[in-house]
Amino acid sequence: MSARDYYDVLGVARDASEDVIKKAYRKLALKHHPDKNPGDSEAELKFKEAAEAYDVLRDAEKRQIYDTHGHGGLSGIGQGAGFSDVEDIFRVFGDIFSGGGGGGIFGDLFGGGGSRVRRGESLRAHLQLTLEEAATGTRRTIELRRMVGCGSCSGSGARRGSQPIRCGTCSGAGQVLRSQGFFSVRTTCPACSGRGEIIEDPCPDCHRSGLIEKTEEIEVEVPAGVADGMILRVTGRGNEGPRGAPAGDLQVVIGYHRHAFFRRVNDHVCFELPISYSQAALGSEVEVPTLVGKAVLTIPPGTHSGDILRMRKMGFRSVQSSRKGDQLVETTIEVPTKLGPEEEELLLRLAEIEEKEVGTRRLGFLERFKEYFG
Ligand SMILES: [Zn+2]
Ligand SMILES: [Zn+2]
Repeated sequence: MSARDYYDVLGVARDASEDVIKKAYRKLALKHHPDKNPGDSEAELKFKEAAEAYDVLRDAEKRQIYDTHGHGGLSGIGQGAGFSDVEDIFRVFGDIFSGGGGGGIFGDLFGGGGSRVRRGESLRAHLQLTLEEAATGTRRTIELRRMVGCGSCSGSGARRGSQPIRCGTCSGAGQVLRSQGFFSVRTTCPACSGRGEIIEDPCPDCHRSGLIEKTEEIEVEVPAGVADGMILRVTGRGNEGPRGAPAGDLQVVIGYHRHAFFRRVNDHVCFELPISYSQAALGSEVEVPTLVGKAVLTIPPGTHSGDILRMRKMGFRSVQSSRKGDQLVETTIEVPTKLGPEEEELLLRLAEIEEKEVGTRRLGFLERFKEYFG
């Protein structure tokens, strides 16, 4: 895993556009490409580092998590763990660069095909959680439309009973050799699109692809403390790959429902507690909500509006460190807008006393006030 700043790795500004990031990555990947630097482990390392940075910065959601929480934010949710080998990089980015009509020299370098197994695409789903669910963790079922192997042809793409025939152009290899500039590169066979075989009698259900769309229910294990905007990766639950190739991943983007009281700030849970003047002055014990039910909070005598009362370890568990945040209760003193006769009488009496016994803050103000007007 790289600890270097991803923007530094690609040599782009923090506000770089998608296009700039893509170009910077292409340039680096071409420079450090293993085919150009055989046996150079440093180049391979740089090749991987660039791919890892690109993998995060090209994805708006991962980029946002990285911008806010750095490397830790991504590793905590099973993202940004880097690529273990170069094949991994070809697998993930191969399609991006090969796009359609060749995509130039880079397209061919990355287009690979043939011997390189083309994994199924990753899918993305959104999951809305209450703050309580996010705090404790939960298990949820997501209904998802994904591509799975076609049952009629057992994934071959050819009508049941018929067989695909070997491609004559590439002799079944899926690739042909072509020289281009200073490289000799293998490119995807144009006759069979890299399959190595040609289907003359296609399966009526999947029309050669070997895959059909199916709605499935997928169980997602949500860890305690998961934050708004985090992405959970469910390995192998994206689209299945053609002809038995491994499936892509399912990325589950977490969102929070609005809560009646709480907001999350880092791993703390915050809310505003209205208290009366007498509770603030005399102190009090009040019942307050927490993520796990009701609790009693002590308001010390002499509490001010805007004071933060801390309830230790009553916040969210951090996904990264499993430490717990606190519950932060901000007090706000509510001044009544309508007074009953008894309240009014008492407050008038209070006002008389306050004339004589002035608090220290008010005293300080009154002194400065007198001084100001000479
Ligand atoms: Zn072929
Ligand atoms: Zn089929």
